[in-house]
Amino acid sequence: MGKATGFMEYERELPADRDPRERIRDWEEFHLRFPDEKLQTQGARCMDCGIPFCHSGLLISGLASGCPINNLIPEWNDLIYHGLWREALDRLHATNNFPEFTGRVCPAPCEGSCTLGLNEDPVTIKTIEQAIIDRGFEEGWVTPHLPKVRTGKTVAVVGSGPAGLACADQLNKAGHSVTVYERADRIGGLLMYGIPNMKLDKQVVQRRIDLMEAEGVKFITGIEVGADLHPAKLVRDNDAVVLCAGATKPRDLPVPGRELTGVHFAVDFLRDNTRYLLDQREGFVAKRRIPATDLDVIVIGGGDTGTDCVGTSLRQGCRSVIQFEILPEPPRERQPDNPWPEWPKVLRTDYGQEEAIALQGRDPRHYCIMTKEMVGDSNGRVKELHTVQIEWVTGENGGRPYPKEIPGTKRVWAAQLVLLAMGFLGPEETLAEQLELERDQRSNIKAEYGRFATNVEGVFAAGDMRRGQSLVVWAINEGRAAARECDRYLMGETALP
Ligand SMILES: Cc1cc2nc3c(=O)[nH]c(=O)nc-3n(C[C@H](O)[C@H](O)[C@H](O)COP(=O)(O)OP(=O)(O)OC[C@H]3O[C@@H](n4cnc5c(N)ncnc54)[C@H](O)[C@@H]3O)c2cc1C
Ligand code: SF4
Repeated sequence: MGKATGFMEYERELPADRDPRERIRDWEEFHLRFPDEKLQTQGARCMDCGIPFCHSGLLISGLASGCPINNLIPEWNDLIYHGLWREALDRLHATNNFPEFTGRVCPAPCEGSCTLGLNEDPVTIKTIEQAIIDRGFEEGWVTPHLPKVRTGKTVAVVGSGPAGLACADQLNKAGHSVTVYERADRIGGLLMYGIPNMKLDKQVVQRRIDLMEAEGVKFITGIEVGADLHPAKLVRDNDAVVLCAGATKPRDLPVPGRELTGVHFAVDFLRDNTRYLLDQREGFVAKRRIPATDLDVIVIGGGDTGTDCVGTSLRQGCRSVIQFEILPEPPRERQPDNPWPEWPKVLRTDYGQEEAIALQGRDPRHYCIMTKEMVGDSNGRVKELHTVQIEWVTGENGGRPYPKEIPGTKRVWAAQLVLLAMGFLGPEETLAEQLELERDQRSNIKAEYGRFATNVEGVFAAGDMRRGQSLVVWAINEGRAAARECDRYLMGETALP
């Protein structure tokens, strides 16, 4: 343990973010760096509490409590306090293939279950995680490590999001020859074409991909398995196949006017923007297909994807941006039915909302609002949304709550761009149909957690494709564990964690 009395002496402190008015003028990351001494002080706040819930990764009430990849948090907090950065990096890499991703984008369920959080502010775990890996790269400590022995086995991984990357990384470490097939033009899944640059710089993603390539992982882009290449061929030509193709079917909003020009899925808008920025950076001719510039934008969906749309629209110079959420506004503090160490279900004002508040003078979020109709102009372009306020009422005999319209609350909102950010409905059908894979009740690929084997011999599934829409940290968890089970299948035993 670092400093026995650290948690009593020091307050939680986070590095400042760049000013919202300034940062919306570019696409650079918005978190500033803490000096090393500050990080050491924050590491000293860790109590080494005996039962570190922060690294437990339990599911309580359906939500993650503690780190899903079981990062050895008290260990690296202690190492940081003692200035042992390189040792901290080794402990971090022992459980996490990509701390530079989680340190930037993870919602940090670890902090929600930090024991100090019972009566104080929790330790700044995520900030410390990012600082350890960023310093590791800066110091040149993160270098390619090629496996000493190749097993002669080949594995095809379909999809290059965090699940596919973690799986490929682990299988390559075990000495198998791994090829990752990706239908997009760039590797990274939603790390590349979902999460915007200001949250996760694409050079950070590319740096890890280059490292994996130097270690022997082969990446093939622009190939859609199921369209350009039959998955059965991959099964025939390889010793095993791991499917990590994500849960890419977005939830739609079937209201009158949905077909109007200017109504898009959020991910299409975000992908278009990132592709434009990267093409421009790499010197290609680039044009935005879904611009928000000078438009009134309405984002339907109050989650992280919606927030990313708000931040992206503001950076593109939209005239105004509003975000609709069908659920009620969350409470500001934990409620008695949501005790520690559960994930705290409280109101968070994320970067996109902070920026909208700074620019527009008000929070862009509107709660308990339901869109009834989209109305277009004479050119077939959306010009208005018609909404009603709803209240959530309990179903009969205490059944599931459902939304009930409040009479007299109709409202008309101007919008020339509408972005649908209402979550995802599971994986696409093609791979499952062509391989005759069993699906679960939610239409995800059926493969028991912990085994990851599908009903087809030698075919495994992991990440959002198996679990449904989730988080980067869960995708890494599943990719690592599927690699372990795949290795066991190939070799009869495994040394992978
Ligand atoms: C806009 C947005 C923002 C998000 N922000 C966060 C965040 O801040 N923090 C967080 O923890 N989580 C976030 N998430 C969730 C997180 O990104 C996902 O849970 C995670 O990326 C899932 O990883 P995956 O590898 O399972 O799938 P994905 O990342 O979806 O990758 C799947 C890949 O498979 C490819 N693919 C699909 N079908 C085929 C095929 N037939 N052939 C070849 N390739 C194929 C796809 O092109 C894609 O590249 C966000 C999600 C979205 C949509
Ligand atoms: S990966 Fe997420 S949950 Fe785990 S230590 Fe990092 S921020 Fe916390």
